[in-house]
Amino acid sequence: MIRKLAELDLRDKVVFLRVDFNVPIKDGKVGEPHRIDSALPTLRFILERAKKVIVASHLGRPDGKFVDKYSLAPVQRHLQDSLKLPVAMASDCIGPAVENLVRTGEGKVVLLENLRFHPEEEKNDEIFSRALAALADIYVDDAFGAAHRAHASITGMAKFFKNKAAGLLLQKELDYLGPLLANPAQPFVTILGGAKVSDKIGVIRNLLPKVSALLIGGGMAYTFLKAKGIDIGKSLLEHDKIDLATQLMEQAKQLGVNLLLPVDHVAGDSERKQPLTINDSAIPGDRMGLDIGPKTAQLFAAEIGKAKLVLWNGPVGLFEIPPYDQGSRVLAQTLADNHPAVVGIIAGGDTVAAVSAAGVSSRIAHLSTGGGATLEFLEGKVLPGIKALDDQP
Ligand code: ADP
Ligand code: MG
Repeated sequence: MIRKLAELDLRDKVVFLRVDFNVPIKDGKVGEPHRIDSALPTLRFILERAKKVIVASHLGRPDGKFVDKYSLAPVQRHLQDSLKLPVAMASDCIGPAVENLVRTGEGKVVLLENLRFHPEEEKNDEIFSRALAALADIYVDDAFGAAHRAHASITGMAKFFKNKAAGLLLQKELDYLGPLLANPAQPFVTILGGAKVSDKIGVIRNLLPKVSALLIGGGMAYTFLKAKGIDIGKSLLEHDKIDLATQLMEQAKQLGVNLLLPVDHVAGDSERKQPLTINDSAIPGDRMGLDIGPKTAQLFAAEIGKAKLVLWNGPVGLFEIPPYDQGSRVLAQTLADNHPAVVGIIAGGDTVAAVSAAGVSSRIAHLSTGGGATLEFLEGKVLPGIKALDDQP
């Protein structure tokens, strides 16, 4: 059983809150605060009830050493402004100075310095885990984006707590992502895109038996088209995945899954320039398919309209470079227009970026914060960080 935050008695308690504040830092300032802002409801919930909250995160890849540019000091300033409360910055994440700050410091919030300044964090070291655990009475994990890592602050320390819970952000991820694998509302449509089939094999295998339709766009669609004997010009192709694509299409047929591939494209030249709409599933020899075409976008949009639940992972085009963002924009817009009748769930860092660029994120049910963790979850893997929260695994 994974307990919800509201089930814990936080009165007079010191709470350890593991968050994912791995944000971009630019000129000593937080560049993009989304991850910090997302954890604020959990932080406020705890602050209203507990004696003190210790906030801990990693930032970047300092490889187990103190590296100035990976200090969480810019995060402290941002957090202080957002909460309108003093946030004490600890000089480290364990040790006497930190213990002292937690015990005697006046403010209610202590931000620990980067967990990954210690190599023991990523090694899930027992003694380090114990030292972190010794700081608090209660453990709360809100770092879904790091839940696929068996690190000390995620798994190692959690076992020392009788009282532990999922934070509000992590809980929301479980509430939306859990049913996709367990008992999805039907019709359940999955849209997959992105550059490569090989990145998504686990997700396709795990979801195929659960979906009513699978819509494939993006670079990965070309390996499927090739497997059907359709010319794809200079589009992305994974030669060694052609057989797999054939197998997956056969499996979809057996399962009665409606698997749709692009029927038209927007293709560029070999330098991705001179975009041209190709009104056919086949692509001329010198051209590269870089987005689904308008007919395909309409075909996919119609499937979204018929669905109860839509999971989308992987942009259906080279969305970073207009006009190859058009297909992804149409899909994002369609999901937003059908909200809330259709529950839309967006997975993957680039897909979230594409949906945000379309300006419709507030009208879609859930944009997962997980990135790699979300994909592993969708592959059906047990995430160590989720397992660690379980009272009776
Ligand atoms: P996510 O991060 O959401 O899981 P991926 O990383 O799998 O998504 O895929 C995103 C990448 O796929 C983007 O960089 C995008 O430009 C690229 N992409 C999508 N379609 C194409 C295409 N037709 N040709 C080349 N790259 C593509
Ligand atoms: Mg990506």
